Amino acid sequence: MDELILDILDCLRTTGELSAADLNRIVQEHNRAFRDPVRHFAKKQLLPYYRRVKRDDPARWEGWQVDAATEEKLVAALQMKPRRTASGVATITVITKPWTCANNCLYCPNDIRMPKSYLHREPACQRAERAFFDPYLQVAARLHALVDMGHPTDKVELIVLGGSWTDYPAGYRIWFARELFRALNEAGTDRAAACVRDRRAAYERCGIARDDATLSRQTAGVQARIDAGTETYNEAWREAYAQSPAWRAASAWQTCGWDALEAEQRANETAAHRVVGFVMETRPDAISEASLRDLRRLGATKVQIGIQSLRPDVLSANHRAAEPDTVARAMELIRLFGFKEHTHFMANLLGATPEGDIADYRAFVTDPRYLPDEVKIYPCALVDGTGLARAWRDGRWTPYSEEELVRVLVADTLATPPYTRISRMIRDISAQDIVVGNKKTNLRQMVESEIERQGRAGAVREIRFREVGTHDMDDVSVRLDAVPYDTTLTREVFLQWVTPTGRIAGFLRLSLPKPGAFERYKLPTAPDEAMIREVHVYGRAAKLGAATHGAQHRGLGRALVARACEIAREAGYARINVISAVGTREYYRHLGFSDAGLYQRKDL
Ligand code: SF4
Repeated sequence: MDELILDILDCLRTTGELSAADLNRIVQEHNRAFRDPVRHFAKKQLLPYYRRVKRDDPARWEGWQVDAATEEKLVAALQMKPRRTASGVATITVITKPWTCANNCLYCPNDIRMPKSYLHREPACQRAERAFFDPYLQVAARLHALVDMGHPTDKVELIVLGGSWTDYPAGYRIWFARELFRALNEAGTDRAAACVRDRRAAYERCGIARDDATLSRQTAGVQARIDAGTETYNEAWREAYAQSPAWRAASAWQTCGWDALEAEQRANETAAHRVVGFVMETRPDAISEASLRDLRRLGATKVQIGIQSLRPDVLSANHRAAEPDTVARAMELIRLFGFKEHTHFMANLLGATPEGDIADYRAFVTDPRYLPDEVKIYPCALVDGTGLARAWRDGRWTPYSEEELVRVLVADTLATPPYTRISRMIRDISAQDIVVGNKKTNLRQMVESEIERQGRAGAVREIRFREVGTHDMDDVSVRLDAVPYDTTLTREVFLQWVTPTGRIAGFLRLSLPKPGAFERYKLPTAPDEAMIREVHVYGRAAKLGAATHGAQHRGLGRALVARACEIAREAGYARINVISAVGTREYYRHLGFSDAGLYQRKDL
């Protein structure tokens, strides 16, 4: 491996850079030298190996004579999956422990090894299972993997998945959040290593398994009853978890109070791995003033909810509890509390048609009661053991053809306004779990190619399509655009930095509440207070405060905040709040904001 690294360094020194083709060629040459069919070296091994030598054998590493500039290029070339941090932050997804859901939607997976709606073959779910669903262990493992892949991890977005966050006991929710912050605060210390060791031992003492073979064996009987429809997920869960001595023993210490969480949050404000975004998932019918206060106190900045459809006939056929009015109320409240809204919308539900889906989505992105900030639009996947699987066997549901599906998603993409981001077009369900229907993971690419083929790429306005991402940008010529729009209870202003080629380099969401909002809801803010719901500047995640070639750290964020303050002042607001993440509190203090309850606030 040393020889391979040295050849790569030679190439870098000679040519000044290392292309993907050069890297492939060098790795292949070294594999071929063995004159056997075995692949001795893989690209993904290179960066971890380089880092290990630098850390554990500094004398050997010094012999390689790698200066700082060469190392920067080497890490960039060896970094795996650059998209993962292209939007400016490293994302860590964690899963809560198996738990029931008050609803029972027809298509919702019933994997007893997971919280309702998740499947144990999904990548984040596999990681969670190996970590006993423990938040500390999940974060520690993920941080380690991201560092090994060469990603900066000083700015982290936490995504907590698990169906309905609000259904878990309050003590568990606070403990879970505390452990996430604590894992980031202690990362890389002896304390973290000891905690990981002791925590694993504690779960093993309780008798909780984490290997696939044992878990499959333990749950085979109960899963067979769920799949046959003789037991519901919730009934099976009681037997497998609520009455399990192992899980009851672990639950006894999975709880804590607000003081413990707030201490970790304060420590995170200046930690090496700061939380700059915190996403929690729940259901529209679980959104209330009280639940949003709770989420905010935990540190959340974005709420993820499943909408799936707004058509009453489709909702009822799929046993969805959240009616359009419930969805509208949830979206109003989430926005008024300052959170970003990440919503899920599904095509091809039972009773849907391609034309109906296109019209349904169009209503979602044009009716002022909804207008999401972010949306995941994906085809309904048929998973065994669900009510939808029975409907398929009875001939009441069939998957759309690929042509129909692409047609729906093309129309949805073209209908999406410039202030909405389509974050995904598929869910991470493994092809093994999908009985029929789309199994292609590059669905988004297919949709974008079709849009290109139709010559309509210029008409795509959604955010992700326009993100500057890993491309360099010319900061001199970016221009600031304002896109105002009205929702039922707020006037929103979407401020965006746009490059000459139409790419988006950063944006801000400003929310100006209308007086009616305070008549309808008990809000934690006053009628003369505006709200900054999101500030995002793109560019490859870089070390805080370091000079970079991307869009970060060029004052674009600061200028967005200044312009939002001007707009709010001109509109007659006396103060402005920002829904800052714990790790961005310091940044807003430097911009003149002070800590004020659930938010940070500035007089205008
Ligand atoms: S609300 Fe979500 S988690 Fe609950 S049953 Fe429906 S899809 Fe599944």
